[in-house]
Amino acid sequence: MRIQTIELREIRLPLRFPYETSVGRTTERKIILTRVLDTDGGVGWGECTSDEDPFYSEEWTDGSWLMLQDYLAPLLLSSVVDHPGEVDGLFKHIRRHHMAKAALETACWDLAAHRAGLPLWQFIGGNQHTVRAGVAIGLQESVEKLIEVVGSEQAAGYQRVKIKIKPGRDIQLVAAVRGAFPDLPLMVDANSAYSLADLELFRSLDRFSLMMIEQPLAHDDLSRHAVLQRQITTPICLDESVCSPGDAEDALSLGSCRVINVKLGRVGGYSNAIAIERLCRAAAIPLWCGGMLESGVGRAHNVALSTLEGFSLPGDLSASSRYWDQDIIQPPVTVSSEGLITPSSRPGLGHDVDLDLVERLTVRRTAIHRQ
Ligand code: MG
Repeated sequence: MRIQTIELREIRLPLRFPYETSVGRTTERKIILTRVLDTDGGVGWGECTSDEDPFYSEEWTDGSWLMLQDYLAPLLLSSVVDHPGEVDGLFKHIRRHHMAKAALETACWDLAAHRAGLPLWQFIGGNQHTVRAGVAIGLQESVEKLIEVVGSEQAAGYQRVKIKIKPGRDIQLVAAVRGAFPDLPLMVDANSAYSLADLELFRSLDRFSLMMIEQPLAHDDLSRHAVLQRQITTPICLDESVCSPGDAEDALSLGSCRVINVKLGRVGGYSNAIAIERLCRAAAIPLWCGGMLESGVGRAHNVALSTLEGFSLPGDLSASSRYWDQDIIQPPVTVSSEGLITPSSRPGLGHDVDLDLVERLTVRRTAIHRQ
């Protein structure tokens, strides 16, 4: 694979509804799309999942733009690889910046799948012909509104519901939702908003039969998650804390979690995500795919990843129409009334990028060429 040109575009995509978590509120996504073109006319698309601000992780859209433009694109354009699994190795001297790396790495996998004439999900080794969709609900203006939204998502078929919590807006939300929906597969995500001083709160959450509590403690603290996991019965799921196969290995050996949410961007792309999947499958730790309010490109990549065998729990894999009035891919990602997504049988990502729409949404662009 000899990449000839890398195009970067920043698009602005307004969310249908504001999305609020313990770290902030988003109304419009600033998304970097990557397109890689090889010397034989092959094309692959990727998406950088950085947030607008460095609150979820150290990466943010503007920083990722510079990282891609000044470091990662030149590295890829000065190399030749036989397989997309080698792309991550090209970037190894640059520490972290996983979402920026994944934006190019995943595009190369898409291109290679096209070259192989295979759907991307089969090319990466996926074997699930349908994937189960769950839904993540941001903090709402009131408990009543939350109950209403949970009800409509359940009616839409989603197989599990995740609600966001933060200090002061936690146990009463869980109690209200559980009271209204006694049998709902329900979980919470704290986005690192708590500490071990909140142990009693987590013990009291045990009685609500939650599927899991996602990332209750600090993003970089596997040790205290292990302490907490030993003292509560609800499984802990790690998100922010697992950024590499090494992190996953440490989390498993410490007992920091019983579930992992894998995000392609957070772990730097498919190579590391596949390595984490193998590790966790061997250890019988179930996985699911998390979301970062992706446009259709990132959304389709998430569906492909979720077909790997170890992704046995419903992911944050909502339909395009849940977030966007019009997604940038055709066809959009859809969820059946049973809460299932069927990955495309077409080569590569299996969706066409709507270039006219992308053009209209683009606020900056650059193209970098092989010298
Ligand atoms: Mg999370």
